[in-house]
Amino acid sequence: MAIRKKIKEIIIGRELSVEEKKIFKMLEDEKNKLEKEITKLKKFYDYGTADSENAQEIEEFSGQIGLKSKLDEGLSEVKLAIKKIKKGTYGVCSKCNKKIDPKRMIANKSANYCVSCKNNLKVKIVKKWYKFPWMKR
Ligand SMILES: [Zn+2]
Repeated sequence: MAIRKKIKEIIIGRELSVEEKKIFKMLEDEKNKLEKEITKLKKFYDYGTADSENAQEIEEFSGQIGLKSKLDEGLSEVKLAIKKIKKGTYGVCSKCNKKIDPKRMIANKSANYCVSCKNNLKVKIVKKWYKFPWMKR
């Protein structure tokens, strides 16, 4: 266990604070979860595309496409947040480099932009459709 911890720190390149470690772990868990969901959907594609002739199947399929793009979006946010923790820029807006409102960071651990940049980017907020496990506290 101690060795694993050491390796992780070497990969990251610097010592993370207790709080950073906690968030890092949450983001890693979230990343794994999203990747699993995406893999599941990919299987659905492979299976579903060949013979989707009835309306219900097609409807279900297009619903899955929408879900996949949301999952992909969520995954890229989480990946970026993980990168930022490693770089020590977590909690700083990726666009304007200002500090993101801590309340926003608590509500959404993978927030990479401040509210105004996020609105400017017109990126859909992930938490609307995806309940993060730590929000249930
Ligand atoms: Zn910003």
